[in-house]
Amino acid sequence: MNENAYTRRDFLKAVGVGTAGAAIGLGAFGGARWARADPIYKGSSILAKAAPIDRGGPVVISGGKVIQPRREIRVMRETDVLVVGGGTAGVIAAISAARTGLDVTLVERYGCFGGLWTGGLVLIVLSTHARVDGKLTKCVRGIGDEMLERHLKIPGGIINQGPGKSNPTSDPEATKYIMADMVRAAGVHVVLHSWVTNAIVDGGNIRGVIFESKSGCLAIKAKVVIDASGDGDVFGAAGADNVRHVHRIGLVHRLGGVNTVDRDKARKAGVKLPRFGAATPIPGVTWVNMQGPTADCLDVEALSKIEMDDRAAIWKRIAEIREIPGCEKVFVLDTASQLGIRTSRTLVGTHEVNIKEVKARKTFSDVVAVGGSYSLTGGAPCLIPYGALVPVKIDNLLAAGRCVAADNLMLNYTRLIAPCMVTGHAAGAAAAVAVADKTTPRDVNVAKVQALLKKQGAYLG
Ligand SMILES: Cc1cc2nc3c(=O)[nH]c(=O)nc-3n(C[C@H](O)[C@H](O)[C@H](O)COP(=O)(O)OP(=O)(O)OC[C@H]3O[C@@H](n4cnc5c(N)ncnc54)[C@H](O)[C@@H]3O)c2cc1C
Repeated sequence: MNENAYTRRDFLKAVGVGTAGAAIGLGAFGGARWARADPIYKGSSILAKAAPIDRGGPVVISGGKVIQPRREIRVMRETDVLVVGGGTAGVIAAISAARTGLDVTLVERYGCFGGLWTGGLVLIVLSTHARVDGKLTKCVRGIGDEMLERHLKIPGGIINQGPGKSNPTSDPEATKYIMADMVRAAGVHVVLHSWVTNAIVDGGNIRGVIFESKSGCLAIKAKVVIDASGDGDVFGAAGADNVRHVHRIGLVHRLGGVNTVDRDKARKAGVKLPRFGAATPIPGVTWVNMQGPTADCLDVEALSKIEMDDRAAIWKRIAEIREIPGCEKVFVLDTASQLGIRTSRTLVGTHEVNIKEVKARKTFSDVVAVGGSYSLTGGAPCLIPYGALVPVKIDNLLAAGRCVAADNLMLNYTRLIAPCMVTGHAAGAAAAVAVADKTTPRDVNVAKVQALLKKQGAYLG
């Protein structure tokens, strides 16, 4: 059997059910009932006292314009630290703050965590390590590394992770599961299926957000808000200065059956094999990083067109691949549920990660995150100062992940998954210290933030 082969017994062990759970059988696994098809239900249950869903009354047409009436929005909860966006940065930020014992709420528009890393099927975690004094040195430590290491316990969970290895490729389902487990263990209050649509701002201070959900439009009030939405939706709505970008947008996907390719047959037919993409932890499955056209990632019409065009292009390409002798059994395993948005808004921060300082290998007394190397960093680690997370205006707000302040070149570094891990960690720790010290992220004692980060295992150079 292939060493990566993944049996059901392995899975049950990995998720902690063990062989006793296996003996119970599929019908009762994990408290859920499993069946091949839905049984015939004898009728639905009626919610006798269903809570009314407040939509603020109907939207009206007045003078030919569509008008939403003024309304009061129900406050769902009040929290110490509110993290918007459950991608790489947001999940790590929430865990960091929650591990200090604060009340932390994490709001995510989809039903799982990981953002582009999982839902976007971007599986290779770049810039985890750098050469320091000639030695391969792990830069992503602390919560990000804990997350990556946990994949090793799941057969088929990750490749290229462990001593002497860097830039691992993970399995998206394993990552979703690990993130959810770590978020729950840290005691984070999770609000899924909720799309943040606006910021609550009072006198230049953000006080929370409002979001749309199946339960209607709701508000969450917070002492500190972290914008980890990737697109800067919160700081954009709050009125913080930001830069809008266009970038390439593609629909990442996975191919299956690549291990069935008959190379001899292709060689005898005199055809060159196409590129099938990069290896994943699942044998015979590759992921294809689609570049796509350049567009405004905040333009819903452009996103809709690209999604439709890319899907057509993927199926055209797979049809061509299957015509190649030896490639008849290659298939599209899946396409990303999240379109591949590389960048949209970045924060105008009190400091901008910029290529000049990176090339000069400048050090900062307020360094809060260190990412591994990338072509842009000339092989060295990249030091990220606290100011890259702090808006020039609007208080009680921090940015994390791909929307932190960076110039046009360096945003292609700060948006990589490993750098998003470390800026997420930094934002969570800074928010926690600010709340504990009853101050704002702008006035926080950065030495205390650095001390907390180190206590939580982070590497600061
Ligand atoms: C095609 C492509 C290829 C890439 N290749 C690589 C690569 O090879 N290696 C690498 O390291 N990086 C790569 N990247 C970059 C990397 O994947 C992302 O930049 C990184 O994962 C971003 O993490 P994040 O947490 O900052 O944001 P995201 O992953 O975007 O997470 C943001 C989260 O916020 C949620 N959200 C957004 N708006 C709202 C809202 N209004 N309300 C509530 N929730 C919201 C989203 O659903 C998401 O879960 C690639 C990116 C793309 C698009």
